[in-house]
Amino acid sequence: MSDNNKSIHEFDFSLICEYFSSMERQGPGSPEMTMKALGFVDNLNAGSRIADLGCGTGGQTMTLAQNTPGIITGIDLFPVFIDLFNENAGRLNVEDRVKGIVGSMDDLPFAEEELDLIWSEGAIYNIGFEKGLKYWHRFLKPGGFVAVSEASWFTAERPEEINTFWLDAYAEIDTIPNKVAVLQNSGYVPVACFILPENCWTDHFYVHQVKAQEVFLAKHRGNRAAEDLVENERREARLYDKYGEYYGYVFYIGKKI
Ligand code: SAH
Repeated sequence: MSDNNKSIHEFDFSLICEYFSSMERQGPGSPEMTMKALGFVDNLNAGSRIADLGCGTGGQTMTLAQNTPGIITGIDLFPVFIDLFNENAGRLNVEDRVKGIVGSMDDLPFAEEELDLIWSEGAIYNIGFEKGLKYWHRFLKPGGFVAVSEASWFTAERPEEINTFWLDAYAEIDTIPNKVAVLQNSGYVPVACFILPENCWTDHFYVHQVKAQEVFLAKHRGNRAAEDLVENERREARLYDKYGEYYGYVFYIGKKI
């Protein structure tokens, strides 16, 4: 029984990898917003150590690499994403200072106070915003920065349908002031926060999925797990279209004290 479960789980896992591998980004974001967040981080130089946690295939990491000096380590749980990440670094000729490795963001291979900057776009939710911020804190030098994007409510109250969806998907979603308080209570000075504009969800994320979904469904015709995966993504996009004024991703930038 447990063997059956394991193989089903692994099958879903490889489908998820395949689905998202074809996209430049695996979550909402854009090069412009990566640059905007980077604008709040100072004191980086060629010796700076940077980690991008939950880096995926490295869409945002390559933007960082092209606009910062320093040595960047991308970490992701999925080996397929890390292979693509390292190919991307090679294509941009930054492989001497940008490397992707397989690992988990809750078990980091760094020394205490080794890092100048921890980056994480649309990924900290995997271990939770508060747990991630508190655990990662020890790896930053004093004065080092954390920059993460995280699902957040824009309003104190919202319609039942979207409230229920998010509490099921990620119960730690919260309002911006509450998230800033968590950042502060985790040992960082809140330096900035800003809402990712709508095009980070539409043009940079959901629009790319429409074509990818057709190709994916054609390849996996009749496969229930593949159909469910696509239906899930389409439902998310419909909900964003309907309720996008109530929630979104917010970039939070903090400085370790
Ligand atoms: N930062 C990328 C990817 C976001 S999607 C972007 O913005 O495009 C979230 C990523 O987190 C996925 O690539 C997923 O494989 C990764 N992930 C999930 N759990 C993880 C963990 N425990 N440690 C590291 N990465 C993880």
